[in-house]
Amino acid sequence: MKKLISTTLVLLLLTSCTKTTTTTDDFIHITFGQAVYNDILIDKDRNTGSMQYTDLETKLTISVCSRPGCDHKQNTPNCTAQGEGEWAYITTMMIYGDNLYFVNQVDNAIQIYKCDLFGGNRKQMFSYAPEDTDDVMYMSPILYTARYTDSELYLLARTGIWKEAIDDYGKETVVQTNFENWFIIRYDFASEKGEIIYETGFIACSMPYGLQLLPDKSIFFSVQYNTNEEYGYMTYNELLKYTDDPDSEYYQTQITEKFRITPDGQATEYDSPGNVFGFVTDNEYIYYVDYIDGVYLNKGNLIKHNYLNGQEEIMYESVQFICGFYDDVLFIVTDYDNEKNEAKTWYYRDGEWTKPHVILQISGETKSYFLGFNNNGYKAILKSDYYAGIDTSFEIG
Ligand SMILES: [Zn+2]
Repeated sequence: MKKLISTTLVLLLLTSCTKTTTTTDDFIHITFGQAVYNDILIDKDRNTGSMQYTDLETKLTISVCSRPGCDHKQNTPNCTAQGEGEWAYITTMMIYGDNLYFVNQVDNAIQIYKCDLFGGNRKQMFSYAPEDTDDVMYMSPILYTARYTDSELYLLARTGIWKEAIDDYGKETVVQTNFENWFIIRYDFASEKGEIIYETGFIACSMPYGLQLLPDKSIFFSVQYNTNEEYGYMTYNELLKYTDDPDSEYYQTQITEKFRITPDGQATEYDSPGNVFGFVTDNEYIYYVDYIDGVYLNKGNLIKHNYLNGQEEIMYESVQFICGFYDDVLFIVTDYDNEKNEAKTWYYRDGEWTKPHVILQISGETKSYFLGFNNNGYKAILKSDYYAGIDTSFEIG
């Protein structure tokens, strides 16, 4: 994307961020890979991987680096839009108060950094680095999901274990085992304290399907497990239940149990409603797609499950996946139009399902815009235009 140094955007950023803390008027949202602050998108340049701001109103983009002549490429010395450390990789970022925060992945560590809005005064605030021993070599921790409440950042990440092996040519090598530890980091902005509030411990073949925060700051987090005997590592946690399905060729898809972590860090067993692949929550319900036979990419019923009383109902039949809640509206995809290479999106608003006229798979939002993509790229559109069916979408990123 073309770089434009915009006085307007700088002023806008500085003005909107000189408030020492965020207020209820501010719109802050964070997902994996990007964050928004009101109508400013904070993401990474597709070519250089460097952090940048885009003001959707003016459509101007500037880098999180004010060094004259800097190309913002990886490993460029002193570029403040790049991660910290050789071949560092920034996975997500956000603004809180007067600062930009970013999650930095380096060899064998996952870290949270804080800096000024334009990259100066960088400081490490949290680091998790499993240390190798004589017996165990750990994989680099990898971030999977990021969520944000009014004052805290939650990160779902995993690390794994390597083992020594012999490759096809008879050479010694290391390969990944099926033992993985999934953990949740909570970072509190006010106290500047980060901690791991929950971890599964090293268990076989776990795959978390989403991390959802509730208004009371408890967490829903679902994991799937393989009970393949080779990895018979089943004694870890009484909160989880395991089910063997020897008939399934998709052995990893048959076992699902969800659990909820309360704000004090306790995990409580939660009666699982069934196969869950991706889910979203609101104040009362979990919405998930119950896939037929638990096989990925099949269609299933969209289920609305009341997590307070366990009752559930089918909201929609034959759904491919849930996009999520944006503008407090639920978006789903029911099918792909293979000829047009487009997803058929529907949204649920005011008790009705609507198939929008503007073809865009919604994947995010700012205060006034939806973010989404179609076969022409990643786009933004004013929410009011989207609902009215007026296609004023424009390409971003
Ligand atoms: Zn730079």
